[in-house]
Order: sequence, then structure tokens, then C-alpha cells
Amino acid sequence: MGVDTDSITIDEQQIFTALETTTEDAVRVREVLKKALELKGLGAADATALMCVESPELLEELFDAARRVKDEIYGRRLVLFAPLYVSNLCSNDCTYCAFRRGNPEVHRRALNQEEVANETRLLIDQGHKRILLVAGEAYPKEGLEYIFKCIETIYGVKSEWGEIRRINVNIAPLETDEFRALKECKIGTYQLFQETYHRDTYLKVHLAGKKRDFDWRISAMNRAMEAGIDDVGIGVLFGLYDWRFEVLALMQHVAQLEERFGVGCHTISVPRIEPAVGAELSEHPPVPVTDMDFRKLIAILRLTVPYTGIIMSTRENPEMRRETFALGVSQISAGSRTNPGGYSEEDYEMSQFSLGDHRCVDEVVRDITSMGYIPSFCTGCYRMGRTGQDFMDLAKPGLIKHYCEVNAMSTFVEFLEHYASPETKEVGDALVEKIFNEMPEGQRKRAESLVSEVRCGKRDVYV
Ligand code: SF4
Repeated sequence: MGVDTDSITIDEQQIFTALETTTEDAVRVREVLKKALELKGLGAADATALMCVESPELLEELFDAARRVKDEIYGRRLVLFAPLYVSNLCSNDCTYCAFRRGNPEVHRRALNQEEVANETRLLIDQGHKRILLVAGEAYPKEGLEYIFKCIETIYGVKSEWGEIRRINVNIAPLETDEFRALKECKIGTYQLFQETYHRDTYLKVHLAGKKRDFDWRISAMNRAMEAGIDDVGIGVLFGLYDWRFEVLALMQHVAQLEERFGVGCHTISVPRIEPAVGAELSEHPPVPVTDMDFRKLIAILRLTVPYTGIIMSTRENPEMRRETFALGVSQISAGSRTNPGGYSEEDYEMSQFSLGDHRCVDEVVRDITSMGYIPSFCTGCYRMGRTGQDFMDLAKPGLIKHYCEVNAMSTFVEFLEHYASPETKEVGDALVEKIFNEMPEGQRKRAESLVSEVRCGKRDVYV
């Protein structure tokens, strides 16, 4: 039977009522933190209690609980990916975005397939295995077929030691049939951000184009999931409206997906508005999120939806990225460029927004390795069909770790063998040995066996 794809309802009144409570209640907060450590997630009333935390002592307890949940579920791995912008053509007018239609400061282009292949090769040669394909919300004359061709091109590029093994996609909302066709292209996650869940603000900042239709956008994941795409990624552009409202609304969105499809979203992205050329609002976000509130919202998300990946982009600077890894972030982009052709050309003027982290992949890998994290380029779950409900069935009893840490090790060693600078290789090899020594015996044997295959020249080995 078909699913009602029309409605995701954000109950704004319920959220405003919840947000009337602003007083910190230490007893209640500690109860909620205790509940969060059971790893079953939290409800809206619990999250609201955490949003009221202000005192340094309770804040530290909140962050500590988030660190423990992060560590328990995700261990030491951090998944790396890079965005590949194929086009900045756009028919919408989002006041915070450089790609908005009518912005004369941006030169419009959609990469041709040769250019897409070039960009892909450059990403592969940095060591990437996962790409997030991004396009503005209009296509060249081939229409959606253009995106399908790009996906085929990207998967088709083989370099001496690597290839892209998973393509996630961030493109405009589609009809259900179009989502079916997109799934046929073997995408990983379909990602789309609501930007703001506050309807009035949404209308104020999206001035023209199909994106002005709040309901069309918010119902996109229903259509995607009905079409069989069971890994979907949602997100908010923080700074447009009160972050506390956005987090509670996001929780309503997740809960409704869970109710309808048995599984919520695979990832949540947490971009904050950054300055963008020719987009005035981006210079003065209406409701900026302070660094402290940003840490808080990540910690709260980690506790409320413990099994959902949290994605941190290179909008944030290295210091903030480092801090939030421990608080809940599980996936990061690295070495990113946010303009079509950005990996072959150095034209930052055409970027969608400005970046806070300009380091190359090798530097990011060295940095996170020296913090004790295993940079993971793993795409194993997606290729073994461990997606959607199957993924959650393994994640919730804590079984997914047995795959993830081992696969993280084999893909990290692939990186160290073929793409790392000598300094990064040295730090990385030392971490690999340290982790072997700390692993339980069964897991260590599996990891050692995969790693030795990689060191003998085999690639793409995973469990
Ligand atoms: S945010 Fe997306 S839809 Fe809006 S103008 Fe930018 S590219 Fe277009």
C-alpha cells in the first residue's frame, strides 16, 4: 500500500509551549542524563530540560554524557568524505546562499562529464572513497538525467589505487518516481536540509523558486523512502531561527519518519551560516548560534538520537571541529571545495559559502589521528546492504561496532599506504599498532588479517 507522502507536520505550538521553560533544574537534568546513558534516545521534554542548562558544572555533565554516548556507540572512528559540486545553476532565491538565482557575482556553470571525471580523479588521489555529490537546484538541459550521468561518471573513474565507492547525493527534492530512478543509480544517502523548520522564517528567507514551498521540501524524505531509499540525511542551517526550536522540530521530523517507515534518518547535518558572496543575510544571520550553544546542540542531538550520524562540514574552523568530534560528530568532510570545478581550480569567489577549515585531507587525517581517532573511509555497510532498518537492527544492540572498527582500520591503512605524507604515515602506523593492542582478541585478529591483506597490496577489503 502506498504511504501518505504529503504530510510531515511540525507542531509549532507544542514546541513554543515546551520552550516556555527556561529555568535550569539540576535534579531533572541529571535524571535525563542518566536516561541518556541507556542509549535509547530521549524525548522532546528531556531535550528541553537539557536546553536550559547554563551552569558550568551541569554543562560539563551534559558534555561528559555526550562524550560517553559517542564513545560507546561510535568508538574511535570518524568517517571522512568530500563534497563534489557539479553545478551551481539554481532557480531558487535563498537569501543566505551565493548560488541564489540572480546573484551576478557568481559565474554559472554545470561541469561537463570530463570535468566531473577530473574532479573525481583529484579526490581519489587525495585518498577519498566517499563523495557527496552536490548540485544547485536547477539542471542543465538534460534535466535530472544530468545528475544520473554524473553519478555514472564518478563511479566509472578508476585510479591506480582507488575509486569512489559510495556516492551520497544532495540535490533538489524529487517526485517519487524520480527518487526510484535515483536509487537505481546506486546512491548511498539522499541528503536534503529543511534549512529552517519555522514556517514564517522559511518564507522570509526563501524568496522565489520551488524551494519556497515548505511542504514540498519537508515531505521529500517521505517520497525518497517510499521509493526505497532507506538512508536519508536531514539538516538545519543554524542561524536562521532559534536553535532550540530547530532541534525540537528536527526531532519531530525524525519521529514521524520512524513512525511511517520504521527507521528515522541516517544522518543529521549541523551547518551554521557562513558568509557567502552576494548573499547579504549570510553576513548577518538573524539568530546566530554562539559557539557554546553550538556545542550544546550537538551534545543534545547525540543524546536524543544516539544512532544517527552527525555530520560536520568544513564551515567550522579546526578548533570547533576538534571539540565536537568528542561531543557527537561521527562524519566530517575534509579538504572540501564548495564550487563546481573547485578541486582543479582555485576560484574561491564562486564558492557556495566560505570555509573555516582549509586544510588538505592529509593534514586533517594527521590531526585526527594524533587525537586518537581512526579516520575511516569505509563504505562496507552500504555495499553489504546494511542500510536503513538493517543498519539500525545492528546498531541498536551495539553490533555494528564489530564491523565498523575493523573496516575503519583496513581503509585507514589503505590511506596510509597509498596517499599519506611520510609524517602522517608515521603517526598513523603508530596509532594502528596502539589500537591493535587495545582490541579484544577476536576483533584484533579480524582487523590484523584485513590490514595485512591491504599491506600486501590488496584493496577494498571489508567485513
Ligand atoms: S541554498 Fe540551494 S536552493 Fe538555495 S540558492 Fe543555494 S543552491 Fe539554490
